[in-house]
Amino acid sequence: MSALDRLRQALAEVADLERSAAVLLWDEETQMPPGGVEDRANALATLRRLAHERFTAPELGRLLDAAEREVEGMPYDSDDASLVRVVRRDYELDTRIPAELVGEQARASARARPIWQEARRRSDWSMFAPAMATTVELSRRLAESVGYTGHPYDALLKLNEPGITTAQVEGFYAQLRDVIVPLLRELGAVADRVDASVMDRPCDPTIQVGFALETVRALGYDLERGRQDLSAHPFTVSFGPGDVRITTRVGRSFGDSALLSSIHEAGHAMYEQGVSRSLDRTPLCHGASPGVHESQSRLWENLVGRSRPFWEWCFPRLRAAFKEALDGVDAEGFWRAVNRVRPSYIRVDADEVTYNLHTLLRFEIEKELLEGSLDVAVVPRAWNQRVGSYLGLEVPDDAHGALQDIHWCTRLGGFVGYTLGNLIGAQLMEVVRRDVPDLDARLAEGEFRLLLEWLQQHLYRHGRKFTPNELMERVTGQAISAEPWIRYIRSKFRDVYGLARPS
Ligand code: ZN
Repeated sequence: MSALDRLRQALAEVADLERSAAVLLWDEETQMPPGGVEDRANALATLRRLAHERFTAPELGRLLDAAEREVEGMPYDSDDASLVRVVRRDYELDTRIPAELVGEQARASARARPIWQEARRRSDWSMFAPAMATTVELSRRLAESVGYTGHPYDALLKLNEPGITTAQVEGFYAQLRDVIVPLLRELGAVADRVDASVMDRPCDPTIQVGFALETVRALGYDLERGRQDLSAHPFTVSFGPGDVRITTRVGRSFGDSALLSSIHEAGHAMYEQGVSRSLDRTPLCHGASPGVHESQSRLWENLVGRSRPFWEWCFPRLRAAFKEALDGVDAEGFWRAVNRVRPSYIRVDADEVTYNLHTLLRFEIEKELLEGSLDVAVVPRAWNQRVGSYLGLEVPDDAHGALQDIHWCTRLGGFVGYTLGNLIGAQLMEVVRRDVPDLDARLAEGEFRLLLEWLQQHLYRHGRKFTPNELMERVTGQAISAEPWIRYIRSKFRDVYGLARPS
C-alpha cells in the first residue's frame, strides 16, 4: 500500500469523526431539548479532540512526508497533488497551534455565549467586556502561534483565507467606501421612489417554510441529498456530499420571511453538494474558504434571489401561495421593495449597498484590538462613532451596536469573509454572463440549471483544492477584485431607484 493510500485512510477517519461531530451539532440546534446542553458539550469536545489528535499525530506527519515524494511531478491541479499540498498547509498550521490553546478557546467560547446573550438582552457592554477581553487575548495568542510578518490580523487571515493579506483587505475596503458613501447619498435623495410597505405585511409562517423549500428545490438544491429544518440561527452543515442540510427561520412579515434565508443557506449547500466525489472523506471535501463559501450563499441570495428576472418568475408563485396578502403588488414593485436601500444598525438586516460598511467597521475595530491600540472597555464608543460616520445613524444602545453579533464569543477575524464573498460572487457572475449571454431570460423562466452547472463545473467540484486567489485566477483570469462588485452595485441600484445608469 502506498503512503498516499495510507494517508487517505487516516484522513478518512478524521473526516468521519468530524462528520459525527457535525451530526451532533445539527441535532443540538434543531432537535435537542434544553437539558442536553452539558452532555452534548462533552460528547462534542471528545469527538473534536480525537479528530485534532489524529490529524496532528506524528504518524500522519510521516505519511505526509512520504506521500509528498510520491506525488512529485504530478500536475498541480490533480486530486493527489492537491490533497498532499493542502494537507501539508493544514498540518503545519494545526501543529503550530498548541492543543491547550484549542481547548481554552473552546471553553471560553462556550462560557461567553450565555454571558453574551444576557448582556445583549440587558444591552450592557460592560457585562460582556471581560469575556471579550478573553477573546482578544486568545486571538492574539493564536496569531502569535500561527506567525505573521506584517499585522497580527494576517495570521487570522492565514487560517481562514490562505493567500490574502490585511493590506489587500484594506485596499478593498478603501475602494468600497469611496463608492458606497456617495452612492448612498445619491439614493437617499430619491428614497421615496421605492415603496417597500409590502415588506411589513404579515406572511403566513406555515406557508413560508414550505414555499422556501419549494423554491430552493427549483434552484437546484438536491433534496435526495438534503433537507430543511428550523433553527434560531440558520446554518448549513455537510455530513458528506450525500447529506448536506440547511436550516431556516420563520418570520412574521414578507420582509423577514424564510425565503431569502433559505436561498442563502441553499447556496452554501449546493456548493457542498457539488464537490467532486473523488474528494470525499478528505479535508478537500468542503468549500475553498469561508469567503468563497459566502460568495455562493450571496450569489444565490442576492445576485439571483434579489434580481428582477428571478422575481418575474417567482412573484406569480408567491402570489398564488399567499393570495390576497399580496393584493395590489406586482413583480416589478416587489423586486424594488426587496432591494430597498436604507442604512440600519443591524448587519444581518442590511441591504446589499450598506452591508460592507457593517463588516468594515468590525474589521477596523478588530485590527485595533489586536494591535492593542483600542481598549475593550471603549469598543462601543469606537463602534458608535463609525456607525455615525459610515451610515449616518446614531446607535441607540449596545444591543443595536457592539453586542449584536455572536462572533466575538469565539474569536476575531470572521467578518472579512462576508465582504470577500460579496466581491467574489459579483466577479464570478460577470464571467457567467459572458459564458451564458441569455442568463436573465433563462432565470425569468425559472431555468436555473445552466447557472448551477456552470458553478459546479468551474467552482464546486474543486472543493478545497485551490486557495481563493488561485481559484479566481483559474475561473476569471484575475485575483479577487472589487471592480465587478462596484460595477454591479452601481448599475443595479440606479436601476432599482430609476436613476440613469452610468455611461
Ligand atoms: Zn452564509
